[in-house]
Amino acid sequence: MESVLVSACLRGVPCRFDGRGRASAETAAVLSGRRAVAFCPEVAAGLPTPRRPAEITGGDGHDVLDGRARVVDDTGRDVTDAFVDGAHRALEAARAAGCTEALLMARSPSCGRGAVHDGTYAGQLRVGDGVTAALLERHGITVRPATGD
Ligand code: SF4
Repeated sequence: MESVLVSACLRGVPCRFDGRGRASAETAAVLSGRRAVAFCPEVAAGLPTPRRPAEITGGDGHDVLDGRARVVDDTGRDVTDAFVDGAHRALEAARAAGCTEALLMARSPSCGRGAVHDGTYAGQLRVGDGVTAALLERHGITVRPATGD
């Protein structure tokens, strides 16, 4: 059976910054017949739940991986190292389970694919990927976004 790495919050695990999960019928349908490997990179990196919301400032996840951008929470605390650590842990989990695809939560600074918040905390999006999504894509794992709605 094919294995897919999945944002743990999309499986209903209450690991989001606000202490909630986001299971949905859409996610269940996409995963039907496949083995879901639930993983939360931020929790894996040791961040608490609930936690302050964080956004990427100065770029997207690729820029973070390349040292050109940072991840900063809404109190101004730099949490870049934890987000990069979580991304590498997610990659390890995906490889260990033989995943070639990942279904990740849209717009998250870790899991977002194609669009992420722009670092202004004004609800604005920019084109780009979260840190984990960027690292997975760089290592040949196809990342698809899901909203959990
Ligand atoms: Fe964890 Fe990713 Fe869900 Fe955020 S979006 S709670 S990092 S699994």
